[in-house]
Amino acid sequence: MIKFKNYYEILGVTPDSSNAEIKSAYRRLARKYHPDVNPATADLFKDITEAYTTLINPEKRRQYNILNGFFENRKTNTSSQKAEQEYKEKTTSEPNKDKNIKSQFEKKQKHSEKIFADTINDIFKEFTKKEQKKPEPQNGADITADVTVNIAEALKGTERTVNVLHTKLCPKCQGRKFINGSKCSTCDGKGEVSEHRKITVKIPAKIKNGSKLRIKGEGNPGKYGGKNGDLYLNVKIQGNSKIKYDGLNVYYEVPITPFEAVLGGEILINTLEGNIKLKIPARTNSGQKFRLSGQGVKQKNKSGDIIVAVHIEIPQSLSDDEIKLYEKLQKASSHNIRENLLND
Ligand SMILES: [Zn+2]
Repeated sequence: MIKFKNYYEILGVTPDSSNAEIKSAYRRLARKYHPDVNPATADLFKDITEAYTTLINPEKRRQYNILNGFFENRKTNTSSQKAEQEYKEKTTSEPNKDKNIKSQFEKKQKHSEKIFADTINDIFKEFTKKEQKKPEPQNGADITADVTVNIAEALKGTERTVNVLHTKLCPKCQGRKFINGSKCSTCDGKGEVSEHRKITVKIPAKIKNGSKLRIKGEGNPGKYGGKNGDLYLNVKIQGNSKIKYDGLNVYYEVPITPFEAVLGGEILINTLEGNIKLKIPARTNSGQKFRLSGQGVKQKNKSGDIIVAVHIEIPQSLSDDEIKLYEKLQKASSHNIRENLLND
């Protein structure tokens, strides 16, 4: 059994409403509930269209009224109703005569169906126009990605191919999300699609840890003629056994000679952050740490520290003269460095 639907109520009109009133009611409702405007109201719009197609067609409307007990008291009948009336009168009084009137009635019927089709087309044209009205240009968002280089690469410069996930306007629905009232299958109704792009980037020599490289126009594509975003690469330098990066701080393990440890003085350390002069006091021990405040990685207004841990390293190739001097040093030394080994 077909469920009764009150088409008059659905369209917000009365059984007395004229075709023009029904048409304008439908236009108004279509603007509000068409699935291209509001996808959640697709079912409601189906009912609205069903109500409209029935009530705008005089014959369908008549049958619907009879079937559901509606009466219309419209003063002006539509021309097709008149034709129908004439046809009925003729056929009842003179059956099988005047086929001309019957065909005339059918012609009128066809005519009213054409009017209906035109209205629907008009309304859809309105929507298409609305959809095709060029939206405001939107600039694409910037994309940030990380690249890691080793110390040798940071010194000499290198190249990296970065895989960037771009989000761009759906090529099928152009961001409208729906096509003819149904969800766009290409973007699954999202209006945009993701795309992996490989971008090869030159990393300049002597790059510093935490540097930001800007690659113009390689961010997300702009929409509707907007500018592309930029791609920002955060360069991270991977340390080695002697250099460790930890946020803005850099930790160095620096070898010193036995005589530098004993006599102290200024030593020169060649780092990725530049040459550092470090003053070490006389009688410096292995493992002693020195902090160079504010000389680490610089980022915006902040800068980290460099922390240098020195350790005494014995040169592996010693000249005869050096050996003789060490022997002399041995003879001159009277202090037992291990005398406190078992004491607290
Ligand atoms: Zn789409």
